[in-house]
Amino acid sequence: MIDPVRFLSNRSSGRLGYELAKAARRAGACVTLVSGPTALKPPPGVRLVPVVSARAMYRATLANAQQADVIICAAAVADWRPRFASRRKIKKVLCSRFEVRGSKFNLEHRTSHIALELVPNPDILATLGRRKRRGQYLVGFALESERLLENAWAKLRHKRCDCVIANPVPSIGAAKHRATLLFRNGRAERLPPLSKRVLAQRIIRIVWRKIATA
Ligand code: C5P
Repeated sequence: MIDPVRFLSNRSSGRLGYELAKAARRAGACVTLVSGPTALKPPPGVRLVPVVSARAMYRATLANAQQADVIICAAAVADWRPRFASRRKIKKVLCSRFEVRGSKFNLEHRTSHIALELVPNPDILATLGRRKRRGQYLVGFALESERLLENAWAKLRHKRCDCVIANPVPSIGAAKHRATLLFRNGRAERLPPLSKRVLAQRIIRIVWRKIATA
C-alpha cells in the first residue's frame, strides 16, 4: 500500500491459480486457496483464505502449509512493497501555512516528483522449500522475460521445489499458455499452447501421477 487509495500490483489475473484449485478439487483433493484481491469467483468446495498483501499471504500460506501434501504457488506475489505507507492520500499540491509579523499566509506548491522507497517482501515459495516436510510436493512458477528455462532451473534448485512451471511473459492475460514443466530429476515436459483451464487440469494430472509413483 502506498496510501489509502493506491497500491503496487501487477498484470496477473490469478485465473490460473483459481483453475488449479478447481481442477485439484475435481480430482478429489481437499483444497485451501490463499488468494489476493481478484474479481474471480472461488470454485465450489474450496476453502478460500482471502488476503490483501504479500505479508498476509506469507502468514496465511505458512499457517496452512504443514498439513498440505501438495502446495502450488501460482500467485504473482509482489517482490517489493513501499517501505512507508501514508495514512492520508498523497496530494499533488502541498499547502503550507505560516505567519509573518502577525499576518497569516497560505503557500501552495506542486510536488515535481515523489520517490517510493521499496523493501523486499518475504519469499513464500523459498520459505516453504526450506520447511518442506517428507513426502510434501512443492510446485512453483517462473515467469521470465529472458533466459526462461535457465532461470526456472535455478529457481527449482534454490527454492527446493519438486516442480517448476516455466511461462514466458506473454502468458500474462493471454488466452493460451505455453508452459514447460521442470522436475527435480532433471526431466522437462513441454506442453503445447493450452487454455488456462486445460493447462491447470494437465498440471494437476501430472502432479498427481508424480505423487502416486514417488
Ligand atoms: O523468484 P520469483 O518471484 O520469480 O518466483 C516465482 C515463484 O515464487 C512463483 O511460484 C511465486 O508464486 C513465488 N513467490 C513467492 N513469494 C514471493 C514472490 C514469488 O512465493 N514473494
